[in-house]
Amino acid sequence: MPTLLLKNAQTLVTMDAQRREIAGGGVFIRDGVIEAVGADTDLPTQADEVIDLAGHVLTPGLVNTHHHMYQSLTRAIPAAQDAELFDWLKTLYPIWARLTPEAIRVSTLTAMAELILSGCTTSSDHLYIYPNGSRLDDAIASAVEIGMRFTASRGSMSVGESKGGLPPDSVVEDEGAILTDTRRLIETYHDARRHAMVQVAVAPCSPFSVSRELMRESATLARAYGVRLHTHLAENDKDISYSREVFGMTPAEYAESLGWTGHDVWHAHCVKLDEPGIALFGRSGTGVAHCPCSNMRLASGIAPIPAMRAAGVPVGLGVDGSASNDGAHMLGEARQAMLLARVGHGPAAMSARQALELATLGGARVLGRDDIGALAPGMSADCVAFKLTGPGFAGGAVHDAVAALLFCTPPQVNWSVINGRVVVREGALTSIDLPVVLERHDAIARAMCAG
Ligand code: ZN
Repeated sequence: MPTLLLKNAQTLVTMDAQRREIAGGGVFIRDGVIEAVGADTDLPTQADEVIDLAGHVLTPGLVNTHHHMYQSLTRAIPAAQDAELFDWLKTLYPIWARLTPEAIRVSTLTAMAELILSGCTTSSDHLYIYPNGSRLDDAIASAVEIGMRFTASRGSMSVGESKGGLPPDSVVEDEGAILTDTRRLIETYHDARRHAMVQVAVAPCSPFSVSRELMRESATLARAYGVRLHTHLAENDKDISYSREVFGMTPAEYAESLGWTGHDVWHAHCVKLDEPGIALFGRSGTGVAHCPCSNMRLASGIAPIPAMRAAGVPVGLGVDGSASNDGAHMLGEARQAMLLARVGHGPAAMSARQALELATLGGARVLGRDDIGALAPGMSADCVAFKLTGPGFAGGAVHDAVAALLFCTPPQVNWSVINGRVVVREGALTSIDLPVVLERHDAIARAMCAG
């Protein structure tokens, strides 16, 4: 069984039950699982590989709870640069209708490379559009290839424009086919065990693109298999108006009426979740994927994160799709969560350490995992090391290295270990040939937008 010793970190952030931060510490890993955590003097001295982390902060791998990775193909599209959610979607749906299996595979690899280099070791992805033979299998294959821990969410759209929905009819699917394919994916790929590298979630896209029946049947199906439920909810004011006009309910009431609350559910955004909704989510343990950059980009608003945390709502962070947050930097997202909370709720609304906690433990809880988000014996060996040198950290790292990680310009990781495997070595991704992937990615992006 291979062993790996990470040692001598300037600061080790454990996120364990005591939230210990240890100077001159590290982690001893055996066969993909953490065996020991602590000061170097408390760790074994030998391992198959030993990595010296002098000058680094070592943290648990960050967890991304909401994304649409295929959207890296449609970043910064001029016609969608300055629109709010519904117009932004209407501009992009026809372009996304040109996706292919290869486009899914290559864009997922690209998005995962970006995430991994920014400190993320576990990500969910919400793929809800399947034109031209595209399948969620293509995204899962990319996760396996690059070595990222993955919650693959089988999204779907079934209510097109002709039935009062937002997407064009050409990109929606038949509800029976959606449920059949979702069942197939769970049975083929979902691993319920601790340390799983692939899990599957059931994820109709949003109240304005699927029917009540599909929401209900998705919940029933997910619970029969013990997998999680995910969708978008209460993203902006138009989303609220749609819910009131079409369903006669607030988004939280609508979710509750369909069985979409509970410890096995997480909703993206919830920018406009009202007080009763926050209380409901807190009581029921319903999770929220907070996506601050996307909410700013689309001018959706400021999510009431401090109120959610006070009510006991599980909150994690999401970079959201690459076309509504064109910079999917996971540590950067934590920084933006901290800054946006202060704009909305005052300077003490979120500390640097609370932001880091949302990005680690918070995300793990939202994805229903007790094996990631902290560095402790028995946890999965997902850890990242940021090197705090150079002008961006000058002055900061000497005062409070952990806070500097959030307050200063977000760096890329120098080391990333996922499931005990070194996936980033001295700043370079080891598992894929990134320049080749990026060249193909941009050729596909050009072709998709040229038609
Ligand atoms: Zn989204």
